[in-house]
Amino acid sequence: MKKTSGDIDWRHLDASHHLHPFTDNKALRLTGVRVIEKAEGVYLWDGDGNRYLDGFAGLWCVNVGYGRKELIEAAAAQMQQLPYYNLFFKTTTMPAIELAQAICELTPPGLNQVFFTGSGSEANDTVFRMVRRYWDLRGQKKKKVFIARKNAYHGSTVAGASLGGMRYMHEQGDLPIPGIEHIEQPYAFELAGDLSSEAFGRLAAGWLEQKILELGPEHVAAFIGEPIQGAGGVIIPPLNYWSEVEKICRKYDVLICADEVICGFGRLGHWFGCQHFGFTPDFMSIAKGLSSGYLPIGGVVVRDEVAELLVEQGGEFNHGFTYSGHPVCAAVALANLRILREERIVETVRKQSGPYLSRKLAELVDHPLVGEVRNIGLIGAIELVADKHTRKRCGKLGDTGSLCRDMALREGLILRATGDTMLLSPPLIISGAEIDELVAKTRLALDATAAQLGL
Ligand code: PMP
Repeated sequence: MKKTSGDIDWRHLDASHHLHPFTDNKALRLTGVRVIEKAEGVYLWDGDGNRYLDGFAGLWCVNVGYGRKELIEAAAAQMQQLPYYNLFFKTTTMPAIELAQAICELTPPGLNQVFFTGSGSEANDTVFRMVRRYWDLRGQKKKKVFIARKNAYHGSTVAGASLGGMRYMHEQGDLPIPGIEHIEQPYAFELAGDLSSEAFGRLAAGWLEQKILELGPEHVAAFIGEPIQGAGGVIIPPLNYWSEVEKICRKYDVLICADEVICGFGRLGHWFGCQHFGFTPDFMSIAKGLSSGYLPIGGVVVRDEVAELLVEQGGEFNHGFTYSGHPVCAAVALANLRILREERIVETVRKQSGPYLSRKLAELVDHPLVGEVRNIGLIGAIELVADKHTRKRCGKLGDTGSLCRDMALREGLILRATGDTMLLSPPLIISGAEIDELVAKTRLALDATAAQLGL
């Protein structure tokens, strides 16, 4: 790689001192790391001068795209004015107040209180503690168990990873912690068989009811789920799934926690994923698109009745973070929400770019490797299979996905793979021509993958 700044060998330095997240660091040190140097719009450049279309918006987060001057200026101005102060000890800051208000203008009716965190994981840890506190205050001290789903992702902290349903995470560090149960995910491609979407939605929601009855409703505190599972493989549930889940939760007095860390702030063509699926949660975890990833910030939005009990009867809630509502992050998030609103980006995803991506992805269905394409708004997936009809995968699960991801990189496209499912989540400002480029490059990557597999 070209030495990009003076005489620094970035790869060597990285290998010498840097432990990467979710990475086999030994393998990475052997192959060498990709150094991303700059970005603009939907494009990234590495240190060797290669350009990539970012089909993944960083990590599902750069909703307004790269290089937005308004966000940079908002950060600089807030740095000058007040670079840091905390929200403890009867204190607040203006950006935190303004941001809480701005978020509550966008949330569904009845969700009007925000607790700030530094990340999505911290948001879910906060939900975990708030839910248990809530039932304690209600005098229902046995109501402690969370029901979550296999293959869900709710973060990497101990509670986040425990709520998540990733077996490979649980295997490291004796997780999940007690009091968390996982049910099957609403993964139609693998589990629906010949059922209609509606029938599968009822069946999958029924797994929740079964689990509540098995545990006893008096023990079940909450159900947590991503409206669309992201890292698990963009698992889009049937349209009736969440309303069925909502009915079940209300029937047994179980709180509903929507992890909106990916779905929030426009990805599905609505401000929040729950609005697409038509349900009202008691808690929403938010992060990522809140600041378009420019600075780390997250939070929990709490439904009025729940917040009122916590406020009126809870006394001091012994929980919080040094960077809860960090003023610079909050100022950037505010500028980000302004861009999303003023440029009508969420509406564009719903009415134009989302439906256009659906039409373009449908063109890939004829490819011999493709078993299914699916998307809502600007989040989507392509299932890779050896046989379209039986949906049999090609060899060891994950090998084809990794190969296809590498082939996409060669074409100048960043895609992510979960198992043999290719995931798409481009910046929400992606244009029609850029969607054309994304899908054309995906087809080239599929062709190259099929050629390597000898298909
Ligand atoms: N929830 C979901 C649905 C996520 O996708 C993620 C991050 N990928 C998290 C929580 C955790 O967020 P963070 O990495 O900011 O802690």
